[in-house]
Amino acid sequence: MNYKNIVVTGGAGFIGSNFVRYLKETYKDIQITILDNLTYASSMKTIEDLLDDRVSFYKLDIANELALSNYIDEGVDLIVHFAAESFNDKSLHDTSVFVKSNIVGTHNLLELARKYDIRFHHISTDEVYGDFPLESKDKFTEKTQYNPSSPYAATKASADLLVKAWVRSFGVRATISNCSNNYGPYQNPEKFIPRQITNLLTGQQAVLYGAGLNIRDWIHVKDHCRAIDTIIDKGVIGETYLIGVNNERTNIEVLQKILLQLGKSQEDFKYIADRPGHDLRYGIDASKLYTELGFTPLYVDFDKGLQEVICWYQDHEDWWQEMIAQKQMINKSL
Ligand code: NAD
Repeated sequence: MNYKNIVVTGGAGFIGSNFVRYLKETYKDIQITILDNLTYASSMKTIEDLLDDRVSFYKLDIANELALSNYIDEGVDLIVHFAAESFNDKSLHDTSVFVKSNIVGTHNLLELARKYDIRFHHISTDEVYGDFPLESKDKFTEKTQYNPSSPYAATKASADLLVKAWVRSFGVRATISNCSNNYGPYQNPEKFIPRQITNLLTGQQAVLYGAGLNIRDWIHVKDHCRAIDTIIDKGVIGETYLIGVNNERTNIEVLQKILLQLGKSQEDFKYIADRPGHDLRYGIDASKLYTELGFTPLYVDFDKGLQEVICWYQDHEDWWQEMIAQKQMINKSL
């Protein structure tokens, strides 16, 4: 790591907090500042054990330009930008907060990166590319045309385009990564894998959208974090890198693995109505990351990775019960 004073936006969320944890364990001589608005999707509990003289935290909204400018100046040499509204389902009925956080927030950060010539890495998603039919064997590459389906994916795609333009027009030293679906510790129980695990651990039935045949390409969050580090270290400015580990699974296959590992019957779930615009299949060709930057994943055994994550949720009930309660409270007050 060539950078010593690093701002991590969204560092109290799922992937951002795993990244801070990874950085702290891997590099002893860096200072990390987490900037996060602590939305319903995050919790101080996720990061409280990380905070010390090397890691500090400030609660702020990246869409608030003035507030942001108090924390980013010439002393910062790298911004790793995770902060985003990230839940597809929510983006179908609450679009404006996605525009503010994901687009306006990214714009504000890019302007500061431009002003102070700060290296910038933007975290994005494979969802910007849309989807493939279920039977297709095609894969997204860095050259695939953007074709987002949901408001979430559209705002992420917009943010990516801002980054590309800021590189070209203003010489901002930025890279972008578009990653497939992550699983791992500290993922909000509203997301697919933890929702199934926490439902089953609390005696509720697991649920599947539609026929459960949608295909996702699952990567362990720790491999995502290592890939980001590789791109920051070796990536070429202005380039985009797809991140994935070639692990495509139907939703029903993933659920049945979880049922098996928790000792439940393979039929112990119910189907619910599909959500509108639900992407069918994602597939990632991450060969550029592997061949040009020499990345290799550690989590190649999905069953083992899943088992580890199930154990983590079994051992951290306090954490996810608080996340569920926090979301219920917000929903009630709306
Ligand atoms: P998350 O919802 O767990 O975390 C997002 C964090 O951003 C939260 O801590 C939240 O409080 C913070 N945040 C949101 N709006 C903010 C604002 N206006 N100001 C400051 N902080 C704000 O999401 P995640 O799954 O950790 O995703 C992190 C990033 O990775 C996102 O950019 C997402 O698009 C991308 N991504 C996620 C996945 C995945 O599978 N989860 C896959 C590919 C890419």
